[in-house]
Amino acid sequence: MIDQSSYFTRDQEGVVTLTMSPTNTSCIISKFAPSKNGRTYFRPLKGSGKKVCEARYILEQTLGRPIREGYQAQHHCDVMNCINPDHIYEGTQRQNVRDAWRRGRAKSNFR
Ligand SMILES: [Zn+2]
Repeated sequence: MIDQSSYFTRDQEGVVTLTMSPTNTSCIISKFAPSKNGRTYFRPLKGSGKKVCEARYILEQTLGRPIREGYQAQHHCDVMNCINPDHIYEGTQRQNVRDAWRRGRAKSNFR
């Protein structure tokens, strides 16, 4: 496993920056404990900073822009706590639902 600290730097204001885009093809598992939905959350800002989805944050760093409205960070590898930038892409909720249907685990209560 790769040391995650080699991917992040924290400046004097406590802002976390992704320093490199690894070309590793295997999953890089987050050092943070996954939440109920399987995703990992952390605070890019020290102290009172709001918690953000780690995959989302990494994707935004990789894209160099915020994720578009209605889109979210999706995983090619289906490993929700994977933080390999090569495995994370910008996808829609709709794609997600369709994927769920395809996998036969769609719930009947989605909107
Ligand atoms: Zn992965």
